[in-house]
Amino acid sequence: MAKTLLALYNLAPMGLEPLERHFNVVKLWQEDDPEATIMRHREDAVAIVSWPSNLRVSRKIIEALPNLEIIAQFGVGYDNIDVQAAKERGVVVCNTPDLVTNDTADTALGLMLNVSRRFVEADAYVRVGKWATHGSHNFLSHRLGGKTVGIVGLGRIGQAIARRAEAFGCNIHYTARSKKDVPYTYESDLKKLAEESDFLVLSCSATPETKGMVTLDILKALGPHGYLINVARGSIVNEDDLLIALANKAIAGAGLDVFAEEPHVPDALKTMDNVVLLPHIGTATYETRTEMGQLVVANILGWFEHGETLTRVV
Ligand code: NAP
Repeated sequence: MAKTLLALYNLAPMGLEPLERHFNVVKLWQEDDPEATIMRHREDAVAIVSWPSNLRVSRKIIEALPNLEIIAQFGVGYDNIDVQAAKERGVVVCNTPDLVTNDTADTALGLMLNVSRRFVEADAYVRVGKWATHGSHNFLSHRLGGKTVGIVGLGRIGQAIARRAEAFGCNIHYTARSKKDVPYTYESDLKKLAEESDFLVLSCSATPETKGMVTLDILKALGPHGYLINVARGSIVNEDDLLIALANKAIAGAGLDVFAEEPHVPDALKTMDNVVLLPHIGTATYETRTEMGQLVVANILGWFEHGETLTRVV
C-alpha cells in the first residue's frame, strides 16, 4: 500500500519535493472536490499537511481516515484543525511556532503605521496622478510615537509587538489569560484595555473563548481616535460589528491581515479609506516560509523515521 500524504498547501517557496520522495502526495488544492478526493484515499492516507485554508481538518475527516498518524500544520495557529478529535484518535498534531514570531510582529507594526499615517491612501493618490492634477494633499494623519498600545494576547507574537512598539516610544498595556512578569500594564478586562488604548492589537490564539470577543461594545470603548489591528485570526472579531464601527466612525480605522471568512472580505470594507487590508501575509517572507516548510517536513519525516516530532501540539 502506497503511503499517501494529503497536502492542503504546496509549502511554497520550498515545495513538496522533500515529501514526494517518501509519499504519494495528493495536492488537494488542485482538486474540484477535495473532500471526495480525501475519501478516495481514506485507507492509504497516513499524513496531512494543513494550513489555515477554507478546508478545515474536521472531526469528520479525521475519523474517516483509519490509518492517519500525523497532521502537520504550516503555521503556529491551528484553529483549522479539530485537535480534540485528533487527540481522541491518537493522531499527532504539530505546528510551526517561534520562527513565525518576528515577521508577524513586523506585520502588526506595518499595519499600525500604514493605517494611522495613511500611507496606502497617499500611495494611491500619487499612482492615479492626483498629486499632479489636484495638487498637494496634506494627508494629515496620526503619529504612532508616544501612543498607548493595548495588546490582546502577550504570547510570543504579542511580546515581539510590544518590543517593537516600545522602540517607537509607545506605552504598552496588555491582556492575556494570566498576568506576565513584564514591565507593561496588565488589564484583565478587555473593555478597559480598549478604553486605555490608541491601538488595540490582536495577537491572541483563536479559541472558543476568544471567538467574537471584539464586539461593538469593545470597539466603542476603543473610541473614535482608536485603531484596531488584527494579525491573529478573523474569528476573534465580530466582523459585522466592525463594519458598523468603521462606517459610523466609532473607531478611527483598522489594519487587518486576517478575516472571518478568508479569502472572502466584505465588499463594504473594500470601499473604506480608513482601513488597510492584507491577504493573511503575516509570515509571508521567503525566509520564514522556507523555515516553516523545513519544519513541517522535519516533523513528518521525524515521526515516520523515529516516532519523534520537533513541535508537537498533541
Ligand atoms: P502564543 O505564544 O501561544 O500566544 C497566545 C496568546 O494568546 C497568549 O498570551 C495567551 O494568553 C493569549 N490568549 C489565549 N486566550 C486568551 C483569551 N481568552 N484572552 C486573552 N488572551 C488570550 O501564540 P503566538 O505564537 O504568539 O501566536 C498567536 C496567534 O497569532 C496564533 O494562534 C495565530 O492564530 C496567530 N498568527 C497569525 C499569523 C498571520 O499570518 N497573521 C501568523 C502567526 C500567528 P496566556 O499566555 O495567558 O495563556
